[in-house]
Amino acid sequence: MLTEIKGVGPKTIIELNSLNIYTVLDLLTYYPYRYNYYKPEKISEIKENQEAVINGVIESKANISYLKKNLNKLMFSLNTGTEIINVTIFNRAFLKSNLLIGKPISVIGKYNKSNNMFTASDIRLKPILQAEVEPIYHLNNNIKKASFNKIMNIALEKNVNLPIYIPDYLEKKYKFIDKLSAIKIIHKPTSSADLKKSLLYLIYEELFIFMLKISFLKLKKEELTNLKEKKFDSQLMKKFINNLPFKLTNDQLIAVDEITKDTISKKRMNRLLLGDVGSGKTIVAFISLYINKLAGYQGILMAPTEILAQQHYNNSIKIFENYNVKIALLTSSVKSSIRKQIIEDLKNKKIDILIGTHSVLNEEIIIPNLGLVITDEQHRFGVKQRHYLQQKGSDVDVLYMSATPIPRTVALTIYGDMDISQIKEKPLNNKVVITKIYKEAGIKDVLMKIVEQIKLGYQIYVIVPLVEENNEDSIENVDSIYDKLNIAFNHKLSLDIIHGKMTSSKKEKIMNDFKDNKTKILISTTVIEVGVDISNATMMVIFNAERFGLATLHQLRGRVGRNDIQSYCYLISDYDIERLKIMEETSDGFEISEKDFKLRGTGDIFGIKQSGDMNFKLANLKNDYKILIQCKKDGEEFLLKYLKNPKLYPHQRCLLDSIIFID
Ligand code: ADP
Ligand code: MG
Repeated sequence: MLTEIKGVGPKTIIELNSLNIYTVLDLLTYYPYRYNYYKPEKISEIKENQEAVINGVIESKANISYLKKNLNKLMFSLNTGTEIINVTIFNRAFLKSNLLIGKPISVIGKYNKSNNMFTASDIRLKPILQAEVEPIYHLNNNIKKASFNKIMNIALEKNVNLPIYIPDYLEKKYKFIDKLSAIKIIHKPTSSADLKKSLLYLIYEELFIFMLKISFLKLKKEELTNLKEKKFDSQLMKKFINNLPFKLTNDQLIAVDEITKDTISKKRMNRLLLGDVGSGKTIVAFISLYINKLAGYQGILMAPTEILAQQHYNNSIKIFENYNVKIALLTSSVKSSIRKQIIEDLKNKKIDILIGTHSVLNEEIIIPNLGLVITDEQHRFGVKQRHYLQQKGSDVDVLYMSATPIPRTVALTIYGDMDISQIKEKPLNNKVVITKIYKEAGIKDVLMKIVEQIKLGYQIYVIVPLVEENNEDSIENVDSIYDKLNIAFNHKLSLDIIHGKMTSSKKEKIMNDFKDNKTKILISTTVIEVGVDISNATMMVIFNAERFGLATLHQLRGRVGRNDIQSYCYLISDYDIERLKIMEETSDGFEISEKDFKLRGTGDIFGIKQSGDMNFKLANLKNDYKILIQCKKDGEEFLLKYLKNPKLYPHQRCLLDSIIFID
């Protein structure tokens, strides 16, 4: 209970909840993502424009000037003992009453010698007297750094009963420090050697839990070998494939073959279809659904967003036009009368394929003859799927699709509970998207290229980082770009805006207008990121490209170049050029993640962020791959001990029970 912590009231609880912190344990495992090191220095010793800590006493009363709404500047002079410097800090007007003449303080910031100006980013009313380490947490606007740190400090003082997941014998084997120490150290590192030990414990713990779950799932799934054999006329399937508007690639054919074998077998299919954006996973999904229908079963295709569900629906209608396959789309924007009808039809087996977002796993939706569930990269440990998958005697096969570019060796480990089909080659006629970085100042060239494409009859995506204006003037938002483009094109081109905060019916209308070529330029946030497929769009312009991770940029770029027409992607940015250059150099998702990783040393290297299960707080699948492999072995070994007598291991039991009920 968070209320156990002194000083935490209802308001703070709401703030903490907004960070997904609901218990003291959540709080203690909310780890810093980096640290600031502070050591007081002398003005004469610090380098120009390098962040430093300077101690001194306040020499003059603080002055405030209000520059514009939401922007004020506080100024005073500080006596460091050897000189008097001018200090400014933005948006700290509230500190004025604390800054009394003669008071000792620390200022943290950068010093400009030529005008004797110290621009502070922080002021400490309690001076920093010796070197100190400050943990930096991902916080949102709801909660102040100082109050978060205070709450964390109090929580760390409490002797909380921590659940221990690493079994005793392994803790001993690896000479781990104890968990409470590990947690204390990660929040308050005492030395870099200690921090290393702490991280080792916590990363091992994270990966051990993960691999234990995978081993457990694998075991449980192997037990499911009594499904009905699904039979179907393979000639009909072949006919369907031959009548597609294109020839399947080799990898697609292999995937279909593997899925076919799974479908016929008595084992539950539990397969991952791995393939970069644009590799053509969707058609494989449709073929699987067709096979499933031929075998006399109903199927579900789940998409991560409503836009994508809608698109899958439209495509499926086309693909199945001349076949007797009944398809329904169920999203939150479907009218309740139609929804009722769909639910009724599903129950009466009148619908063969249900397409929707993950909300189709709703309890009220009953699909009596369910034979196949296809889902995009999603939680394998999710509880909702139990509803369908754990029903006794159910014949449900499961196919997961993922666009996460990971090496096969890693895939085999982290998807160790699944079989894998991989599509490596892209459909033949897709051209490489020409990618180029432009500085803000070069925008005119880009505008001309936009006009050229539109004259040729093609359409453009324009991507911006923000929906709304924020304090950072230099960051574009959908409205600011809309206005700028309208002015640049003299209001002669039809522009539209789409973003995640719109209702889904509105989004759908906008997407349809774009698809029907009624809109020439679609200004969007990353809602367009996943899977949207409009082949007439041949150009993407991304503003403030430095604000996006390369994994995201790669996903975004995958929206163009979806046919044999040459397509273009322009990254507009004045910053972070070295990283963005990787996008110019390659269009291979895996290569991008590799290079990104080499450059930054960390980060969402595999774009794993998108996938629910692998939201590791500390572990990094690449850096910590050796630990992962060790954890695989340790997890499998421990599972055998565990299964002999689960009662002996209550904490681990809690973890595993939350995945699947054990009889
Ligand atoms: P993703 O793997 O990202 O889901 P899609 O399934 O959306 O990729 O496929 C990308 C595009 O390639 C679609 O327009 C699709 O119709 C087309 N496509 C898929 N397979 C082939 C193929 N074998 N030959 C030609 N085009 C294909
Ligand atoms: Mg099967």
